[in-house]
Amino acid sequence: MATATEIAHQRCLSPTCGATFSVDEVRINCSSCGSLLDVVYDWDRARPPKSLQEFEAKWSRRYDPLCFSGVWRFHDLLPFAPPEKVVTVGEGQTLLQQADVVAKYAGLNAGSLFLQYEGMNPSGSFKDNGMSAAFTHAHMVGAKRAACASTGNTSASLAMYCAATQLMRAVIFIGAGKIAYGKLSQSLEYGALTVQIAGDFDDAMQRVREVSERLNIYLVNSVNPFRLEGQKTIMYRVLEALRWETPDWIIVPGGNLGNSSAFGKAFMELQELGLIDRIPRLAIINATGANTLYELVENRGLRFNAGRIDDDITTKYRQDLDAENKKASTIASAIEIIRPVNLSKCLRALDVCDGVVREVSDQLILDAKAKVGAGGIGCEPASAASVAGAKLLVEQGVIARSDRVVCILTGHQLKDPSATIAYHTTDQEKFNEVLGSRGVKRASFANRAVVVPNELEQIIKAISLYS
Ligand SMILES: *Cc1c(COP(=O)(O)O)cnc(C)c1O
Ligand SMILES: [Zn+2]
Repeated sequence: MATATEIAHQRCLSPTCGATFSVDEVRINCSSCGSLLDVVYDWDRARPPKSLQEFEAKWSRRYDPLCFSGVWRFHDLLPFAPPEKVVTVGEGQTLLQQADVVAKYAGLNAGSLFLQYEGMNPSGSFKDNGMSAAFTHAHMVGAKRAACASTGNTSASLAMYCAATQLMRAVIFIGAGKIAYGKLSQSLEYGALTVQIAGDFDDAMQRVREVSERLNIYLVNSVNPFRLEGQKTIMYRVLEALRWETPDWIIVPGGNLGNSSAFGKAFMELQELGLIDRIPRLAIINATGANTLYELVENRGLRFNAGRIDDDITTKYRQDLDAENKKASTIASAIEIIRPVNLSKCLRALDVCDGVVREVSDQLILDAKAKVGAGGIGCEPASAASVAGAKLLVEQGVIARSDRVVCILTGHQLKDPSATIAYHTTDQEKFNEVLGSRGVKRASFANRAVVVPNELEQIIKAISLYS
């Protein structure tokens, strides 16, 4: 059988360049033109499945970590690593759940809306899918230190893989005050070297690139093409849960745009391999306070254009950001990013999936989040942007009430308790401090605690009154 280096290569995304590099090389962009890199496969040499149903047989071999992992179960569709180098902590054991309470809220028919709950991953977010792949690549090339800039979940995931395997030391960069408590607590407890810089995610991202290059530390942000290979598997699991039937829509929050890029690549490859006959449409949802993709695609007409992306549009946009000294601002901290590193790959995904981009306010995000919680799953604010986006697209008539829609819940409910507590609080000052400052006016679906004196009769009276 062919070896991993014969099967897989890294290739420059730009069609006018197209430079290729070995999978053994560590790079975050093309050395000749600076574009992003893709992991590409020689499918004639690899052994892709003949049908997607083949993957179901792996369920009977769950004693094998490569079958147990929801990422590596699909190793045949990301064959860049030799099996003996694969690192797994049991990521990707996630579920697609029909969610009728949320469907009703979004204006969809009962039975039409599904939530892919990636909060069930070991570190509580979808990032583990990508991290197991990037970490595997880091291990393949013998890295001893790995770094990332993070709004919290990438760092929690990296720190976990480092602690659980003891293969590497984690170095994480975070913007001071820009990370939710649940996430910060994970990185600290897992023992990551945590560098807080005075700035936001976009600043931290810039610095970690410089530092990792200077100190030769392996970078695991989603500019790393191997991260995205792992994240493709979220779509494989969605298809699997729908008995390999393609849904009409996939809706995902957009931050650094790694996830949406990975989803597009997953469907592009499945179609190339003849494993699916239809590609779902993709909706990427920005927060209004971090709406770069929305602005570029929907207002300024930026398109993938077969890889010949109009640089003038992006350059002008970046100049506008600089001129206004604009910073990202949203309660959905995981998507509080206005210089997304995967922009070009994401444009390809929009092209492949006939996609649309929308922006939603923090008010809509938090109301949608409350509904997701009320439906029994729960998620962090950024994740709820997908549900808020579904509601908006149904209102706009872009999504039909009977369409089959999958919203990706990217992170666990317990990641950001401050936002949840502030939403449901009876303390107006607390509400204003955390949410009012974000333009959130009301908690439409608040479930307020009932305050009673410590007296039996009063407690009984309160319960009778409210239940
Ligand atoms: C990272 C993250 C996102 C954004 O994903 P991108 O791939 O950067 O677009 C959204 N939600 C959560 C919970 C995240 O952790
Ligand atoms: Zn190039």
